[in-house]
Amino acid sequence: MIGFELSEEQRQLQETARRFAEKEIRPLAAAVDRVADPRQAYPKEIIRKGFELGFHSLLIPEEYGGMGGCTLDYAVLLEELAAGDIGMANAFHVVMSMSEMIARMGSREQCERWLRPIAEDVSGEYLICFGATEPSGGSEIFCQQPDPKLGVRTRAVRDGDHYVINGSKVFSSNASVSRLYGLLARNDSSRANAESCSVFFFAADTPGFSIGVIEDKMGHRASMNGELIFENMRLPKENMLGREGGGFETLNAIYDTNGVGTGTMAVGVARAAYEAALQYAREREIWGQPIGKYQAVGQMLVDMKADIEMARLMVRRIAWQGANRNSAEGMLPPNMAKVYPAEMARRVTVKAMQIFGGSGYMKDYPLEKYVRDAMVLPIISGANEVLKHFMAQRLLDA
Ligand SMILES: Cc1cc2nc3c(=O)[nH]c(=O)nc-3n(C[C@H](O)[C@H](O)[C@H](O)COP(=O)(O)OP(=O)(O)OC[C@H]3O[C@@H](n4cnc5c(N)ncnc54)[C@H](O)[C@@H]3O)c2cc1C
Repeated sequence: MIGFELSEEQRQLQETARRFAEKEIRPLAAAVDRVADPRQAYPKEIIRKGFELGFHSLLIPEEYGGMGGCTLDYAVLLEELAAGDIGMANAFHVVMSMSEMIARMGSREQCERWLRPIAEDVSGEYLICFGATEPSGGSEIFCQQPDPKLGVRTRAVRDGDHYVINGSKVFSSNASVSRLYGLLARNDSSRANAESCSVFFFAADTPGFSIGVIEDKMGHRASMNGELIFENMRLPKENMLGREGGGFETLNAIYDTNGVGTGTMAVGVARAAYEAALQYAREREIWGQPIGKYQAVGQMLVDMKADIEMARLMVRRIAWQGANRNSAEGMLPPNMAKVYPAEMARRVTVKAMQIFGGSGYMKDYPLEKYVRDAMVLPIISGANEVLKHFMAQRLLDA
């Protein structure tokens, strides 16, 4: 039996998030998007209000003060936030997915130390930022080749009970506005990348850590993306999450959540563009009738709707699978939850802009913003080409 209905709690969560997006996010999304200096764009007050509603703690287990939600709850919440503004949704996406990684891989002491203050925070300041991408390439960090010269360049060298970190990360979301930071670093440069990286977390005020450039981006302008710099940053060994050399095992602990997160944000932005286009097609009259009555426009709307629904089904199927890992049903590669919706969002937002004609190109309407916001989706959280490479290997090896 296949069930498509959300639970009563999930419907309430959806309703709360939808109202929040309509009342708090949407009215300010265009203004935040237009702030010229990216360092001034961060919508602190909106994020604080989202913290008041507990969105940030959705995936933190109840024993550490969180809401103890599941991956499907996460998809339901994030779609609504992203339909309001994808950059703001991304701030919550990172804190939720990273807190789940800590919950899954952390010791009880680490969960108490890192998760409880986040769960209890209502100031909106306890965001998390995670740096994996390096100037030498975001795709390079996933390198599985045996040559030790390839892969992550940031170093974490053991020194007694500490690790000394040197290197830098780029493009990290929530940079400069987080209290807790995470990173992927290489412990042993004589071994292959896949077996010599580890994950660490640390407080924003750790000596040796600083923020570099904050990026000026085409879209997602409400999200702060920047450089993390490590100069002889000393971290106690207790700050390592998971085991030494097991960095990819640690990242893979949230394999499903990560794919679902980016895929859901793609569904959210595409839905917002589609709903705007549908309304416009009903109201805009050309040659004496609404443009939606022309077959070319009506068919575009049908294709957009079907594309969104298929992406949402894929995302929710993989969210379900995250909570049912022992099911007898065949498992889909979790990256499918990101790859297909990301490409869908590019297609749908461009079609929505076309339906608006010249007005879609103007900043008076949100269509050009939706297109800019969607363009990055096949690049972030691992370039689609790289994720497809891994999925192809898996299909061929099965
Ligand atoms: C808005 C935004 C938010 C981000 N947030 C974060 C974050 O929070 N944390 C973080 O660590 N990073 C973050 N990133 C970085 C993002 O994950 C990387 O941009 C992405 O992984 C691609 O890396 P790159 O940009 O260095 O491209 P490169 O690795 O240089 O790749 C360039 C292109 O080459 C192609 N390519 C590369 N390798 C292969 C391959 N093996 N097979 C086929 N094609 C290939 C792909 O088309 C790829 O797009 C963010 C980026 C953006 C734009």
